[in-house]
Amino acid sequence: MDSHESTFQSALHVMPGVKGGHDGLPGQGSQDAASAENHQHDHHRREMTTQEYLEGIESGDRTRLAKAITLIESNSASHFEKAQEVLKHILPHTGGSIRIGITGVPGAGKSTFIESFGTYLTGAGKKVAVMAVDPSSSVTGGSILGDKTRMEKLATDPNAFIRPSPSGGTLGGVARKTREALLVFESAGYDVVLVETVGVGQSETTVRSMVDFFLLVLVPGAGDELQGIKKGVVELADAILINKADGANLIPAQSARVEYERALHYLQPATEGWQTIALTASAMTGDGIPEVWQTIQNFVQSTQLSGAFQKRRRAQERDWVRALIEGQLKEEFYENPKVQALLPKLDDAVMSGEMPATAAAQQLLEAFRSAQAAK
Ligand code: GDP
Repeated sequence: MDSHESTFQSALHVMPGVKGGHDGLPGQGSQDAASAENHQHDHHRREMTTQEYLEGIESGDRTRLAKAITLIESNSASHFEKAQEVLKHILPHTGGSIRIGITGVPGAGKSTFIESFGTYLTGAGKKVAVMAVDPSSSVTGGSILGDKTRMEKLATDPNAFIRPSPSGGTLGGVARKTREALLVFESAGYDVVLVETVGVGQSETTVRSMVDFFLLVLVPGAGDELQGIKKGVVELADAILINKADGANLIPAQSARVEYERALHYLQPATEGWQTIALTASAMTGDGIPEVWQTIQNFVQSTQLSGAFQKRRRAQERDWVRALIEGQLKEEFYENPKVQALLPKLDDAVMSGEMPATAAAQQLLEAFRSAQAAK
């Protein structure tokens, strides 16, 4: 298969995420169905070596890039090790993209916006990767966000790569896979990485922790509560985009923008030295899309100049180490047989008021520590 053909084929084929009820770190018993599924992908060939993965990423060949990401999303312990090898080697070639998070409630127009914005960027000569962090992926199989059928033009664009949310596992597991896939895209020369998530709960904080710029997509006319927007989410954003500013919605969108602009002055900005701004756009007509890109470029320029950009990236790396440790410890704790044996009994005792919560927690931690010490 020549490289043109493979590019074309993979552009039409979004690889599914790897399934598995795991958080993405290789704890006990992680040789699950996922590894069987992964082997199935490659059943006709031997396992690729680290070197082959690295060459694949470097070549820019989409099929091979997709394979590297599948490796990273695998839940099998042997794949985990190889993935870490690959990551170690590509690390010096990462960091070059602008990482953009996009959130908003379902229906706000995120995928229409990504289609329009992504196409605008590829038209300007950029390579664009689209990923998703879908908190419901363990239930739905990860099809709600980043689904290529919602971005038909971008999905066939040779300079865009859409990767749906890895399915299965906890938010922490999905976050790890997304962060590592982001590094793979960067080392493969992608200029802009978009990470989409849905405007409910913890996933926004997770995406904020892995991007440079965070965009909140809203629609005019609906009250804040209706849009599920809590003040906390607004405070994560570097820009608020009032979408659907077209037709009968144009005037309401413009007045919503003015209102948000005013309110934003009273809120703590998400990024040091950057005043969060409100914009209007129509993802459908493309009006306002170049202005979104201009805003992001202004943001990057001014925060790079002030050092806030670099400072955030360093802090994100440090926090990421902490998050990995916390995730792993938590998993080891709850998978510990002694803890599992004690937990239901102590839960009952706490719920019936026989035991204070602190005492129950102490007893469980004690059981865990003694099991660890006996290892
Ligand atoms: P998501 O759930 O946030 O990804 O939202 P979608 O992108 O799927 O959009 C939800 C609906 O809003 C779809 O019917 C879109 O066609 C429509 N929509 C999205 N953007 C615009 C826009 O700028 N103007 C108008 N009029 N409709 C839009």
